[in-house]
Amino acid sequence: MARGSEPILISGGGIGGLITAYCLAHQGIPVRLFEQSAEFKEVGAGIQLGPNIFKVLEKVGLKDAVLADAHRPPAQEMRDALTGKLITNIPLGETFAKRFGQPYAVTHRADIHGTFLQACQSSNLITLETSRRVDGYEDHGDHVAVTLNNGEHVTGRALIGCDGMWSKIRDRIVGDGTPRVSGHIAYRGVLKRADVPDDLWRPDVVLWAGPRTHFVHYPLRRGELYNLVAVFHSDHYEEGWNAEGAKDVMWQHFKMQVPQVTRMLERIETWRMWVLCDREPVKDWSKGRVTLLGDAAHPMLQYLAQGACMATEDAVTLAEKVAAAPDDPAAAFNAYTQERYLRTARTQIMARVYGEFYHARGVTAELRDMAVGGRTVEESYDGIAWLYGGP
Ligand SMILES: Cc1cc2nc3c(=O)[nH]c(=O)nc-3n(C[C@H](O)[C@H](O)[C@H](O)COP(=O)(O)OP(=O)(O)OC[C@H]3O[C@@H](n4cnc5c(N)ncnc54)[C@H](O)[C@@H]3O)c2cc1C
Repeated sequence: MARGSEPILISGGGIGGLITAYCLAHQGIPVRLFEQSAEFKEVGAGIQLGPNIFKVLEKVGLKDAVLADAHRPPAQEMRDALTGKLITNIPLGETFAKRFGQPYAVTHRADIHGTFLQACQSSNLITLETSRRVDGYEDHGDHVAVTLNNGEHVTGRALIGCDGMWSKIRDRIVGDGTPRVSGHIAYRGVLKRADVPDDLWRPDVVLWAGPRTHFVHYPLRRGELYNLVAVFHSDHYEEGWNAEGAKDVMWQHFKMQVPQVTRMLERIETWRMWVLCDREPVKDWSKGRVTLLGDAAHPMLQYLAQGACMATEDAVTLAEKVAAAPDDPAAAFNAYTQERYLRTARTQIMARVYGEFYHARGVTAELRDMAVGGRTVEESYDGIAWLYGGP
């Protein structure tokens, strides 16, 4: 096979890896994707999708497919978890879509991941392989060679590490060790619509801000499910996304909050836990014919609800750069990193700021409430236009 027609190799079949494979194939570039798990799967939880993801999904023809199973919340509301007082309500309907040119939606992770998977499966330029872990690679200048867990050596035109927060490929390119543990933990649970008491069910994204805690809920899958995420400060550390969270630990942080919060938290039998981590932003995450994408490149806290949105933006930009220089992946990867690093760094940094803001206590919380509560709807939109108006 001529080097130029060799596939681009991708390590990791999460949201970032699948959308990257699809976007490359959409540009006519063959791809071979390796996922270490036995099947392509996402964890059972919700994900918020800002208008910026729909702008890029529209370019590659996947916007309607993602919206098909999603829920469109009429508003995003913030309330005080100790008093129940409304802090701010930002409309997400028509005025929002008019301002940003795209909608706001919330969806089940399995639904968006499944949409990307189906799109990949329907392309004859993409080969998807499960139970294949990428254990190492060599960049030979005119091609890359990857070593898989079964001992097989596979060659390709270039390699993209979409292998998430704990990326092994990042070790070789950036070498900045393990992710930064934020000291925040998220517990997640999903309820069926029928299990949510009628007086507590809301069509909006509702965030209850408490001292060193916050609790978010919103409907999923066309309103058939209800997503709950409770976040609190803790030093506990455990790698991965699926450990069981101890109820009594969570309860210590939330028991003094309003009944709308505690009654909802009581509905979940088994919580799943994420220890929230991120990394310092870096200027460059490409080296020769190897680059990174999504959480492998710029892992961020979830407070702006943007990790998957940023991975999708990355994928569209990366594929455009590769299509513009198909015989020079190193130059394409360099152009991709240059275009992406400031936007993703800003999102990483601002996500930390939003975390502090949600978890504020005392006078800081009062100042927050005064600042955001006094804004007009247009002013609220202006505050987030750098993010939602892009890329
Ligand atoms: C609590 C929480 C809430 C969030 N909410 C939102 C939100 O509302 N909106 C939003 O946009 N984002 C949100 N995010 C962020 C989002 O979930 C992530 O940014 C996104 O899932 C990252 O996708 P990824 O494909 O880069 O990485 P991952 O999803 O981590 O996928 C990596 C994949 O690579 C595979 N892999 C790893 N190593 C190897 C290897 N050596 N070989 C082969 N395969 C390998 C893994 O098995 C996995 O399938 C949230 C995150 C958290 C923790």
